Amino acid sequence: MTHTHASPMQGTLVAMNKLTNISRLSLLLTMGALITISALIATPSTAHARKMVFEPNNVKHISYFPQTDYPLDVYIITGAKPGATGLIVGGIQGDEEGGYLAADQFIDMQVDTGTLIVIPRANAKAVAIAERATVVDMNRQFKNITYEKMRGAIETIKKYISEADVFINFHDGWGFHRKEYTDWSYSPDRFGQSVVTDSDEYTCSNDTILNLREPAFMAIKSANERIQLEKYYLEYFNTRTFEETSKYYTSMTNASTYYVLTAECKPAFAIEASKNLPTVRDKVLVHVYAAIPLLAYYGIIVNESVSPVVAPTMSHVVVDVDGTKYALQSGQTINVTQGSTVTVKNIYGNYQRGYTVDIIGVDAKGGRGQLDTNTPHVMSERGKVVANVYKDSVSVGKVFFQVQAPVQTPVQASVPAPVPAPVPRGGGETLSTGLATPTTPSLLASVNGQIGVYPVAQNIVLNKGDTFTPIYFLLPKTDVPYFVNIINIKGFVPKRLASGINTGNDMGHTMVAGVSDMLTQYAVRPTAGDNFGVGEVFPVVVEYTVANSVARNVEVFRIQILK
Ligand SMILES: [Zn+2]
Repeated sequence: MTHTHASPMQGTLVAMNKLTNISRLSLLLTMGALITISALIATPSTAHARKMVFEPNNVKHISYFPQTDYPLDVYIITGAKPGATGLIVGGIQGDEEGGYLAADQFIDMQVDTGTLIVIPRANAKAVAIAERATVVDMNRQFKNITYEKMRGAIETIKKYISEADVFINFHDGWGFHRKEYTDWSYSPDRFGQSVVTDSDEYTCSNDTILNLREPAFMAIKSANERIQLEKYYLEYFNTRTFEETSKYYTSMTNASTYYVLTAECKPAFAIEASKNLPTVRDKVLVHVYAAIPLLAYYGIIVNESVSPVVAPTMSHVVVDVDGTKYALQSGQTINVTQGSTVTVKNIYGNYQRGYTVDIIGVDAKGGRGQLDTNTPHVMSERGKVVANVYKDSVSVGKVFFQVQAPVQTPVQASVPAPVPAPVPRGGGETLSTGLATPTTPSLLASVNGQIGVYPVAQNIVLNKGDTFTPIYFLLPKTDVPYFVNIINIKGFVPKRLASGINTGNDMGHTMVAGVSDMLTQYAVRPTAGDNFGVGEVFPVVVEYTVANSVARNVEVFRIQILK
């Protein structure tokens, strides 16, 4: 940056050093991840280098069948230029993490040309229990629906197939598909590390010929150029589904790709990463490396970008108790009155998608794979109820409801004090996020995916293009219970809100720093008389309630976006 700092900017400089450290940390983490996989997969080629351009309003999220066992979240990413439509489906089998995590990555990519429809977790319940199938294998329901509970999901996937020009199903398969048998792992019978077709080419009933082999080979060649070790190369796998002599004749004719070819006369592929790759990130990269060129073959141009694949965490859940919302960190207990209706509304952490909660022992339900988010639960029995929080199948925390008898004067549900300190560090106590509690009121926020604690006395300095997610507001160690109502970045409207309505609460919403995302009339000068122009510094207002008092405390600090 080119500005000369006058002495009033001292605070900003300190804050910036802090941010630089965090940026450095995130860079180191990224490098660490690259070093881990360098033996396996080359770093992304410059041809696929990502432009940090944010296009607001380009992702449409539609949730089908919420509060059922087979909810379906569909994301439609509209490209800058019109073109063909590609459909990516992940998680149709629940024990294939590379597939659904890679599908998630595509939702965050920028589409230059065409439209991308992504269904990251076709079978969300199977994903939550990390099992291939629930009652039946969802990928064997496409010829005939034999399990009625899946009908809605299957028919919705078919609706999107009818809108797409090419279908790609992301799977993780065992071993490494090879033409020659070496051993169990390297064999023609294994599906891992392959691009799968049902046939080299397929002639539709209207005589249209779909060539599947050529685009598959092109994608494999492109991906293999970025995979360093030959033992991890992708291979082409034609299951010859249409030939009665093929061992896959019976099973694959029930699968999605066969349906796409025969019912819709559209090209269909499965990309199979290997379940035996060393890291989850490797599996994700295999899908990305093969799908980007495959989509490009059909004219759908996607700017490749891959967010860090790290261990999932939760920062807090938002719980609605009889219409009042509370934010709870992992380990916290909230007292509720017997007969209250409790709903876990949102779960925040270091990922945008894939969080579920399972409230145990209420409504005679509970158990792994119970998808209880947004489902009202009536707390009819006194005692302690646990809500287990998962990111996909990974347990990331739990919160508790202490159900108490109603008293003469109705008692509003109360929020307890922060989690007791297990490991003092950095002068404070350790939160569930692993970060020390601050010594001054601070914002817990994620900058470029790295969670940090930002004292309110200092400006938060962002570079243009940085992502910034306010997570929670932290008070210094106190015995007084409090909860946060609103964190409002003035001038920032979360564009991806389904309603399009700015509620003023930006908690959990990701802002990409840059003038295009901000309403500049809200900008202020960071300090009177300094050299910074209008349009770069935005106030942040936090409203929190201490204990159950009606009084609200407001803290203001500022985000500065560098040009
Ligand atoms: Zn699979």
